[in-house]
Amino acid sequence: MKQKNNGTWVSWNENLKYNYTTKYDITTEEELQEVVANNEKIRFFGSKQSSADIAAGTDVLIDMTSYNKIVSYDYNAKTITVQSGLILSELLEAVASVGWCIPCLPDINTITIGGALATGTHGTSGKLLSEYMIECKLVLADGSVKTVTKDDELMDALRVSLGMLGVMSTITFQCEPEYILHVKEKPENDKEWLPKIKSRLKEHDFLRILWLPHTDTGYVITGDKIDPNKEVVENKGPGYLKHRRTVSKILYKYSHKFPWITSIANKIIAKAFFNSEKEHKGSLYQATVTKSRGSTLELAEWTIALDKFPQVFEELKTEINKWSNKSFIHIPMDVRFVYKDNSWLSYAYKQDTVTMGCVSRNAATADTYEAFKSVEKIFLKHGGRPHWGKRFAAKDAQLAKIYPKWEDFKEVRQKLDPTNKFLNPYLTKLVAAKKLVNEIA
Ligand SMILES: Cc1cc2nc3c(=O)[nH]c(=O)nc-3n(C[C@H](O)[C@H](O)[C@H](O)COP(=O)(O)OP(=O)(O)OC[C@H]3O[C@@H](n4cnc5c(N)ncnc54)[C@H](O)[C@@H]3O)c2cc1C
Repeated sequence: MKQKNNGTWVSWNENLKYNYTTKYDITTEEELQEVVANNEKIRFFGSKQSSADIAAGTDVLIDMTSYNKIVSYDYNAKTITVQSGLILSELLEAVASVGWCIPCLPDINTITIGGALATGTHGTSGKLLSEYMIECKLVLADGSVKTVTKDDELMDALRVSLGMLGVMSTITFQCEPEYILHVKEKPENDKEWLPKIKSRLKEHDFLRILWLPHTDTGYVITGDKIDPNKEVVENKGPGYLKHRRTVSKILYKYSHKFPWITSIANKIIAKAFFNSEKEHKGSLYQATVTKSRGSTLELAEWTIALDKFPQVFEELKTEINKWSNKSFIHIPMDVRFVYKDNSWLSYAYKQDTVTMGCVSRNAATADTYEAFKSVEKIFLKHGGRPHWGKRFAAKDAQLAKIYPKWEDFKEVRQKLDPTNKFLNPYLTKLVAAKKLVNEIA
């Protein structure tokens, strides 16, 4: 096993930096067990793409990205078992190569399976990625391995658990036959798309709305399953659309100093780059997942019960359109839909849910981006839940109010990790863990 001493851990967008004393690159479950068993405090990380401070911050770290093999396929059951450091794109390619898919995907393919599951990563018009996990080998705080299956009660606590119950070692996913989507994209006024959400969710197999703050417009993306042989005349829109990232970068350059610039920039970007209709076909992965990004971002995302969304949306819109509060928001706010589940820390626990992203395109100045605060305030007021891997300020007291199983989760966590081995300072505050005698010393 490779080991590096006295280095600095830096997150993807460079907003989080920690010195560490030892970092282990593990390649086998036995190595993972050994490192976990022999260290008092430890965190483990994947692609470091979370904005939340959940992946490092302890002296000893495990880099999971070399633990990245495909272990086995079960062709009859359509399941695949992989090591948790595998990058999502590799899982999806492996699954597609045998004619299967995972039917709900995030808009990023560079994250690890372990990181994605731990934070409740999701796509739209389906369930969280972790809902497709049917078995997990979990390395516990004492280094032993526990197999958790979909029928075990622990699975509901484990599916979304921020690596606080143990390290996910190998994961088995239930896949489905691959399908082809006919994707259509077009701009619509807020008055048009907002009332149509529920009917569109029934009508289409895929629905995503890129809301363009300060423009009264949403860019509506729908997808319908079609016969793979059906001809679709591809319309990618005008060629200049490929310059969107460059133009956005220029227009937003000084928006941290003069936030009102955002309002004007968004109107220009919406007119130039979100004004045309598009049409194409492909698998969910091919047709809807972004494969490359021009620059880093700082992300927040809040979620709310489907029935409450219109009210929260109107309130948010009114608030950010007030020039007095400086909450100008970069394009786009990604509106997606997750169907209810039973996972304790899932955004969609027992309720169909709408998720709404909020990005700052200047990652380095994210601390002064007022929008993060305004969005959090409004969603929290209505019982909204934050994305675990993204930026939010809420802690234990607020989380207890919005997650019905929060205290049960904390109890299980304490049982499985009685010495708080897996807590860094951020997670300690998040779950309000009592400091143990050896930690205070
Ligand atoms: C550009 C961008 C787009 C994104 N798009 C989406 C999206 O469409 N939908 C969505 O829901 N989210 C999205 N995210 C959020 C992203 O999916 C999560 O932050 C995810 O956790 C990142 O995975 P990672 O491999 O970088 O994990 P890391 O950031 O390295 O780690 C995240 C957490 O997982 C834990 N962890 C890592 N490996 C394991 C393991 N084996 N066992 C247990 N815990 C583990 C870590 O300790 C940490 O707590 C996006 C993020 C970015 C930057």
